[in-house]
Amino acid sequence: MNRYRQSEELLNRSRRVLAGGVSSTLRAAMKPTPLYAVAGRGARIQDADGHTYIDYLLAYGPLILGHGHEPTVERLLSSMRNGLAYGLQHQGEIELAELLTKVLPCADQVAFSGSGTEAVMLALRLARAYTNRRRIIRFHGHYHGWSDTIFTSFPSTDMKASRKRNVMSQVIRYDNDTHPTEARVIPGTGGQSEAALQDIILLPWNDAEALKDAVALYGSTVAAIISEPVMCNSGCIMPKPGYLELMRELTAANGIVMILDEVITGFRFGLGGAHGVFRIMPDLVTIGKAMGGGIAISGVAGRADIMELIADGTVSHLGTLNGNCVATTAAVATINELSRDGGAVFARMEKSAADLSEGLRQAMKDHDIQGIVNQAGPVFHLMFTTERQVDSFEAFQKRDADLYITFAQEMLEEGVLLRPNGLWYVSAAHGEAEIRETLAAANRVFARWG
Ligand code: PLP
Repeated sequence: MNRYRQSEELLNRSRRVLAGGVSSTLRAAMKPTPLYAVAGRGARIQDADGHTYIDYLLAYGPLILGHGHEPTVERLLSSMRNGLAYGLQHQGEIELAELLTKVLPCADQVAFSGSGTEAVMLALRLARAYTNRRRIIRFHGHYHGWSDTIFTSFPSTDMKASRKRNVMSQVIRYDNDTHPTEARVIPGTGGQSEAALQDIILLPWNDAEALKDAVALYGSTVAAIISEPVMCNSGCIMPKPGYLELMRELTAANGIVMILDEVITGFRFGLGGAHGVFRIMPDLVTIGKAMGGGIAISGVAGRADIMELIADGTVSHLGTLNGNCVATTAAVATINELSRDGGAVFARMEKSAADLSEGLRQAMKDHDIQGIVNQAGPVFHLMFTTERQVDSFEAFQKRDADLYITFAQEMLEEGVLLRPNGLWYVSAAHGEAEIRETLAAANRVFARWG
């Protein structure tokens, strides 16, 4: 019997009218078929075939409180009765902006947008206008959305699965052992102008010498360095001790805007994001995903003298639904919920992730399976690899990505929904029962492999 018959039929119907059958390229990668959901509650989600799964996909990150968090839904419903969007100003925007400037250490001011991609676009634009420079330094393996000026070098398996062409042939080249050359930056997708990437300098991350060299060589023309604070998108790799501090030092000394992309880490590592936890003060941060708890909202937060460029008209900041009242209500409700009891939920989520990580390591050991779990706060990456540690993008690239896709497929049959690229999100709704069930499921899968 085909367990996923309804999902398959719905996908076939969808493909006739919806390009690719799914609404975001990543979603096509799930094996054996992209699933159709009908409902979610807490840590669990139900598919169209009536199966219930413990959910570690969490809508690719936003569902920090789990599915259908009742108080948030209630707040949304009562706000929606007064209207969905006004196109006028409303107090919800001020309330959210005041909240953000209180909880995010780097935020003097904020600006709202709809997706992480848009927030990054705005942050880069602010940096270029502020510095009057055009170049941007970014890093292999980081993802900053899919806009033309930044989309490159994101080798996610869920992207590759739906792609015929390998766009990951690009490597940073070195003239000699010290100077990176201006390697051609390869577009992340067909239809993207290569010219849009001509201002990008792509570097290996966590490599202090490469960063120093690039800044020494190009610093006076660099508007911004943008980095995920933890390389969540490729292996959940922590910054080496001193690396973000070096980035801060070099940017400050060379008049470069430091942007931390906290679209994943914001409201997940803590109320103050990763920059709050690491005590690094970037000039700008981008936020999204967990901030809205499942409703589309994102933003840029940072230094008043940079954000001022929006007020004085230098930088255009546009968007029909920016700061709409559904989005601001969701964000205020989510952040208030996360703030309860002094933010105790962050330690709980981190413990859940630590228990899962440790349990998975033990399960691999018990069944003689070679793999690594990199945990950072309430998020972790499970990789099947013979590497002794995965602390660089190069090491991450050596994992057996296909084996993980098989693992994710087998876990689905065991009632656990995973993202096919190895990244696990944990929500406030995940408790001991879910962790126990998940580890039992992983043990059953590994036992079959052994
Ligand atoms: N920045 C980071 C670090 C991300 O992980 C993502 C999405 O996964 C984005 C930006 C883009 O956000 P969105 O998908 O909301 O456009």
